[in-house]
Amino acid sequence: MPQIEILSEKLCNQIAAGEVVERPASVIKELLENSLDAQADKIVIEIENGGKKKILVSDNGHGMGRDDVFLCFERHATSKIKTENDLFHLQYHGFRGEALPSIAAVSRLTVTSRIAEDPVGMRVNVNGGKIDEVTEVGVPTGTTFEVRDLFYNLPARKKFLRRDETEFGHIAEVVSRLSLAHVGVHFKLVHNGKVILDLYRQRDCLDRVAAVLGRNVVSDLREVDCQEQSMGLTGYVALATVNRSTTAGIYCFVNGRFIKDRVLHHAIMDGYRQLIMKGRYPVCILFLTLNSEDVDVNVHPTKHEVRFHNQKNIHTFVSNVVRDTLHAAYSAEMNSDQQRSHNVASNIGGKNTAIILSSCRPMFTNDVANCGDEPAGVQERYSGGGQNSVLLGSDNISSVREDDGEYALSDTESNVALPRLDNNCGYFAALTIIGQFHRSYVVCEDADGLILLDQHAAHERIGFERLKKQYLLGDIEQQELLFPVVLELGLRQDTELKEHLDGVQQLGFVLEPFGGYSWALKSIPAFLSNNDAGQMVLDVLAELSILGSAASSRDAYDAILIKMACHGMIRANQKLAVVEMEALLQQLDEVDFNRHCPHGRPILQRLSLVEIEKMFRRQ
Ligand code: ADP
Ligand code: MG
Repeated sequence: MPQIEILSEKLCNQIAAGEVVERPASVIKELLENSLDAQADKIVIEIENGGKKKILVSDNGHGMGRDDVFLCFERHATSKIKTENDLFHLQYHGFRGEALPSIAAVSRLTVTSRIAEDPVGMRVNVNGGKIDEVTEVGVPTGTTFEVRDLFYNLPARKKFLRRDETEFGHIAEVVSRLSLAHVGVHFKLVHNGKVILDLYRQRDCLDRVAAVLGRNVVSDLREVDCQEQSMGLTGYVALATVNRSTTAGIYCFVNGRFIKDRVLHHAIMDGYRQLIMKGRYPVCILFLTLNSEDVDVNVHPTKHEVRFHNQKNIHTFVSNVVRDTLHAAYSAEMNSDQQRSHNVASNIGGKNTAIILSSCRPMFTNDVANCGDEPAGVQERYSGGGQNSVLLGSDNISSVREDDGEYALSDTESNVALPRLDNNCGYFAALTIIGQFHRSYVVCEDADGLILLDQHAAHERIGFERLKKQYLLGDIEQQELLFPVVLELGLRQDTELKEHLDGVQQLGFVLEPFGGYSWALKSIPAFLSNNDAGQMVLDVLAELSILGSAASSRDAYDAILIKMACHGMIRANQKLAVVEMEALLQQLDEVDFNRHCPHGRPILQRLSLVEIEKMFRRQ
């Protein structure tokens, strides 16, 4: 029988280090958290060789007294909690008292610290966990940790370290995260003598975000600020156009602590549902505040994971707030586009305006196309301003190019002057249709931009939103089939259909047993074409079966509704008449999230007049 033995202190610390200290970035995380817990408002981080050779973290916090500089290397030695109750009312990043002994066990470490009350500070050298040397030194209040030769005594772990650049990347990420949560603290990061980050104390979180994530992101961020009973969510979400291939752009903080949490990530993705393509992830910086007793941080040694007491409420809260913020942002954007259209339109005839009245019927004219001079040359053909202005000089306008079938406008339509933009009409309805390109894209213009609209994507969004609305009301519009379609199923499909019959019927299909494994499909959702219906039922069934019991979840039904919307909708490569294009634009105004198809692909692309003029070197 093997004999049980208590492990040595040194070995215990090395084992603990395995959990807490994975790489130089983990050391920096622990040291920075300690500095922040010590109320520092300036922290300097100096790194050499990706942190493998040297890590120095120096702060102006309250420091440690003469005894504490020794005690801090004992396992489970902490000044941050005293009782069990404190564990559920944490005010600090740290509480386990494990980081310093772990780091000291696997490196050559020096700590220098002084509290304001002492005239001098203390310097302690620790080598592989053993205190080597102690000296008194004259230093300002605060603490400096210097960690050299990480894993020098653990070659097996050392060989897992990556190239300097990779390790430094992890360090930069750790510093970025903490600096986002502590905008009032000055962080300076120096690598191999080069200043990489110098983030002065800031008041506004957005300034810090700009400094850390780059100024270009800021214009696409929208503020989140919602308080509900015991929960609060603040921060920023980026519009869906800013997205990444990984979750690295998702910064989530719970009570000021950076957290990687499945529930939170899922809630955020839920908020962005159908705005972002599969496999892409949003950018957001979100701070969730909860009562400290509602979250358990003592789950993981690095404290990157937490446990929520009311997971479901938090999920709903976060996803709703994110979605509402995005919804408001996109609506505001639409309104401002519309407003801009109004402004430019009512300015026509003024100095800086160009091109066409917003709701004048579109023209592709040879004159316009050949216009050799300033854009103002275009302007002259139209009367200026005024609610009732009409298209002038239509004589000059030659017929719309219909010959090659690329543009769907007819001659008669081209010469009709339509009334001006109605103030109440939506952005899309106010667009001027120029024609259709490649039987797939509707070409339009607003007051100062050229717009390409993906007809299939647009229809998918419209179909999906309508279906969803009807589905939620339990009232999917149906059409009865004149001749029921008989579906011959196999045993397995028959069993599946029986199991999911309710779900299938809720989606607008009426099916009745037809003997054996056959079923008669009697009614289908109104917008689906007859030809497609049988196949659609099989697809829906397959989907419901794969999703199994999860099928009742919103995600699952959304996936099915998207599929149905996709089936029933106008496809690419389908010629559209003007009335159809107009209807499409009008319907787009009536649905939410009308800039993305339900798969998250963009519906429209806009090229501004300025951009076009630049292309032609007119600017
Ligand atoms: P924890 O942070 O969980 O308490 P640590 O091992 O990280 O455990 O630190 C042990 C103790 O050392 C802390 O509780 C704190 O009292 C002290 N300490 C560590 N770093 C600093 C610092 N930069 N300034 C002041 N005190 C510090
Ligand atoms: Mg700590």
